[in-house]
Amino acid sequence: MKYEVTYSCGHEGVVQLYGKESERKRKIEWYESCGLCPECYKAHTREEEAKLVKDIESKFDLPQLVGTPKQIEWAVKIRAKYLAKYLARIPEVIEDCKLFVEALSDPQKLAERAAEMEITPDELKERMTAFLDQMDKLPSYDYERLVYLFMTTDSAKFIIDNRHWAE
Ligand SMILES: [Zn+2]
Repeated sequence: MKYEVTYSCGHEGVVQLYGKESERKRKIEWYESCGLCPECYKAHTREEEAKLVKDIESKFDLPQLVGTPKQIEWAVKIRAKYLAKYLARIPEVIEDCKLFVEALSDPQKLAERAAEMEITPDELKERMTAFLDQMDKLPSYDYERLVYLFMTTDSAKFIIDNRHWAE
């Protein structure tokens, strides 16, 4: 059955409903009290995505992505979704990778980390490089490696190709 409804955003639309009458009535009530029309729902989703991207990019020093403008726009969202997922589920993996990325790109941080571990910066760098070499041999579903790659790659294509990991 088709019903005309006024969504909670104030816009009107037609919805197709099935099932028992009581269920249909409940659905209509839901549309009118908290449902958004398709346009407003899309705008809401875009807003949420933009917020997430901003939040994640303020937490990490992520590389500027390379690709077509369309690829970049898409990949930036996937990257944010992916990192947010691990930030919630396995914060220490994210934290380890963050320290790792920082230390490899900043001699000052490398020296600090080495001092914490009571080894020389060169030794630390050697260990990190060995770890990275090893990571290449790990299966692609290994999330530590993927988190690291998502944080360091500048390839929009790589992120898009691996978008299923962000689901
Ligand atoms: Zn609306």
